[in-house]
Amino acid sequence: MAPKKYTPKYPLVWQKDDFFIEIFCSIPNIATGILLSTESSNFIIDPGDGILRDLNKTLNPEDILKITDIFISHGHHDHIGGVWSLLTYLSVMKKKTVLNIYFPKGCVEMESIYTAFNQVYGNELTYKINLVRISSSKPFRRKSVKITPFFVNHKEPGSKKGETFAVPSLGFKFIYNKKAITYGGDTAYCKSLAEMSENADLAILEAGAEFKEETELHMTMEQAVEIGESAKEYFLVHVPE
Ligand SMILES: [Zn+2]
Repeated sequence: MAPKKYTPKYPLVWQKDDFFIEIFCSIPNIATGILLSTESSNFIIDPGDGILRDLNKTLNPEDILKITDIFISHGHHDHIGGVWSLLTYLSVMKKKTVLNIYFPKGCVEMESIYTAFNQVYGNELTYKINLVRISSSKPFRRKSVKITPFFVNHKEPGSKKGETFAVPSLGFKFIYNKKAITYGGDTAYCKSLAEMSENADLAILEAGAEFKEETELHMTMEQAVEIGESAKEYFLVHVPE
């Protein structure tokens, strides 16, 4: 049974051996920030506002410099608001290794942030940024982790009543050491997320729809729980406070 009112207690932490995930927070319209790590890697998922502050609470600066990959579900401000400060910090701290940033093809926000960032800091940047625009669900590997991106169904409201626009949006499945974590990003109930969450060791699911009118944009608590129960464990996030 889905609880009527539920407020996640951040940070949410899950660990199996050296496969570790910490959700610093995921609050609609404010910020999402997630750290995923293994023995040999540090990845960031959705660097929302405050990501740098939260990372500094969990990791020492040397380990922050070891971040190799950033995964962005979509371009809404509460999912990428911390990109600028994170990229700047890595250069100030003299990161030397390549940083890959994965995001859905057509994500105007990420493209714009990168263009402006490059204009301001391009000449003095100590590391290389590699933008990876994702337009298919083809899996790839990074540091012993298999990553499968998948498209989800997220929208944003237009200026006229009832009007909505599709937002290029991804979820990601991370498999390491035979353990799978699925993160759905922001999405209405969709088949791809249900399939990717089934039997996952952990499913991270948004439950952002408070009212029936919002179910085109987000999932209700009931929908998120239904998907969550097909996984071994699940976290509900992005719950309106
Ligand atoms: Zn969103």
